[in-house]
Amino acid sequence: MRRSRTELYSDQKSMFETIIVFVIIGLIITGILVNPMLIKRRINRLKRRSFPSFWNAIIENNLPIYLYLSADERRRLQGHIQVFLTQKQFIGCRGLQVTEEMKIIIAAVACLLLLNERGQYFPRLRSILVYPSAYIVKETAAIGDYVVEERRVARLGESWTKDQLILSWKQVKQDTINWQDGRNVVLHEFAHQLDQEDGKAEGVPILQRNSDYQTWAKVMTEAYQQLGNDVLQGVNTVMDSYGATNPAEFFAVATETFFEKPHQLLSYHPAVYQQLQSYYQLNPVQWNYPSSVTFIQ
Ligand SMILES: [Zn+2]
Repeated sequence: MRRSRTELYSDQKSMFETIIVFVIIGLIITGILVNPMLIKRRINRLKRRSFPSFWNAIIENNLPIYLYLSADERRRLQGHIQVFLTQKQFIGCRGLQVTEEMKIIIAAVACLLLLNERGQYFPRLRSILVYPSAYIVKETAAIGDYVVEERRVARLGESWTKDQLILSWKQVKQDTINWQDGRNVVLHEFAHQLDQEDGKAEGVPILQRNSDYQTWAKVMTEAYQQLGNDVLQGVNTVMDSYGATNPAEFFAVATETFFEKPHQLLSYHPAVYQQLQSYYQLNPVQWNYPSSVTFIQ
């Protein structure tokens, strides 16, 4: 049977279209498989880049805990800082020029949270807005049924579920040098980022195993309720009373305490310490950072 020229042309066309579709599918599959490998290779290359000695000096002079890390931990922290700095954009606000020193200090404290190879660098976060000092925001709150009160509130930092985090540089500097009081705005806001990795701010970051969530919920809920009761009764607490605000703030405050007052947290809330140790894969009591704060509970 002889086929017409039009039929042949139509067959060739559909074959060509089928090939194109297969090529596109192939490229997409290759992209899905190869892209994460390329990203991982790029990250590993960045981590191996030599760490500028003046960056090291900035950290040594501003972040006292750095000198208490093991040599291996310092090297890993340096690698994470290199990656962090290529992935995040710093934006100076209200006339602030963000200097290299500011970037290195913020990155160094934030990357302490990632020290043990979590593999992700705050994936939802793109920009870090830095204000010279506390910044004022307008807050509206409903009072009764009809009245809405507008308040002007000073803030030191905040973390948004979308892609931004805001810091007051004055507070960053003060909290970083003073590494003993359990208060650190960078640790706090970046802990919120970890909490928000799954899209929700509820005090539960992504844990290693599904079976971990039950214990986490039990331990953290008990400690959160205890903190709330202690705050109501005016008891002096290891964790900052702000942690009693809600479970998300509790996780952020517990993280600050874990890194800055590990001995006190381990003594008074061993189960909370253990959960955070398992989550961060770190044991800060081993750093032997001198604790000058005597604590009575
Ligand atoms: Zn907070």
